[in-house]
Amino acid sequence: MELRTHPLDLRLASAFRISRGVQHVARTLAVELSLAGETGIGEAAPSAFYGETRETVLAALPRLVESMGDDPAHIEDAHAAFDGALHHGNAAAKAALDMALYDMMGKRLGVPVYRLLGLNHERTPFTSFTIAIAEPTEMARRAAEAREYPILKVKLGTEADLDIVRAIRDATDATLRVDANAAWTPKQAIRIIAQLEPYGVEFVEQPVAANDLDGLRLVRENSALPIIADESCVTLADIPRVVGRADGINIKLMKCGGIHNALAMIHAARAHHLKVMLGCMIESSLAITAAAQISPLVDYADLDGGLLITNDPYDGVRVERGKLTLPERVGLGVLPREDVNAEVEN
Ligand code: MG
Repeated sequence: MELRTHPLDLRLASAFRISRGVQHVARTLAVELSLAGETGIGEAAPSAFYGETRETVLAALPRLVESMGDDPAHIEDAHAAFDGALHHGNAAAKAALDMALYDMMGKRLGVPVYRLLGLNHERTPFTSFTIAIAEPTEMARRAAEAREYPILKVKLGTEADLDIVRAIRDATDATLRVDANAAWTPKQAIRIIAQLEPYGVEFVEQPVAANDLDGLRLVRENSALPIIADESCVTLADIPRVVGRADGINIKLMKCGGIHNALAMIHAARAHHLKVMLGCMIESSLAITAAAQISPLVDYADLDGGLLITNDPYDGVRVERGKLTLPERVGLGVLPREDVNAEVEN
């Protein structure tokens, strides 16, 4: 198979600050796999937190492509080959190729990926829209401005967490979900979550450090709000470890290596009676649409990456008042937008 890559610099509409840092541009990589006139596309949105950068993805891709066969329909074989070639990590690189293979498969068979997977596109959930960390008044202003979205995800893990939620609640009637991105100690988490209860918060994502599984259990046992594990649950192998310690998990294609692995995680989570959320990094509508293909299977979606950037170079899943609407085109159904170019000039 022939591989081509295009680095993308996705510009954020406003600084994307979470508890551990701030981002103004997301450096992702679009990939194209071609075979016998058929092309599949995918995107890697590497995260330094999980040990990847655009450079590691660029280094990993040729090795991964070399390892796999040339039938896009042999997705199980492709993933076994990926994990054989690069056992640890490189999930965003694997995810980009996984998406491209599903795209090719769908195009070859003349069906959208969700149909290939037997999913009902009418069952797509509503996505939340993220309010990144800023001054409480600024976050409340952004929440009011985001009035078209019925669900807001509020980033916390600051000195002013309660002020933030109070200010946002005064500005909007939207359902609120909060995400501390591992910022709290278990003791802090228990106290803050108890204070959040009157503000109509639906659940709390990743209250404590990723590897503090005992802390996660302590928080869950002492909190009335459901707890969703994100940083603590990266791949399939993490699921048994969070059972009894969280009420649900946040699956991201960039953490687990793509659609194929995400499906395995969804089924494993169900077997353990865990709620399932489908999340994202800052990504264009290419990777977001790939994730949205399997969104009919999940309880909660946080697929707003494309909504947070000003130069989304792809047209794919539509978001209207938060509802995800999948394109009825073959494969991933993603098309380049002629009027936007996010490609990095070298
Ligand atoms: Mg999160």
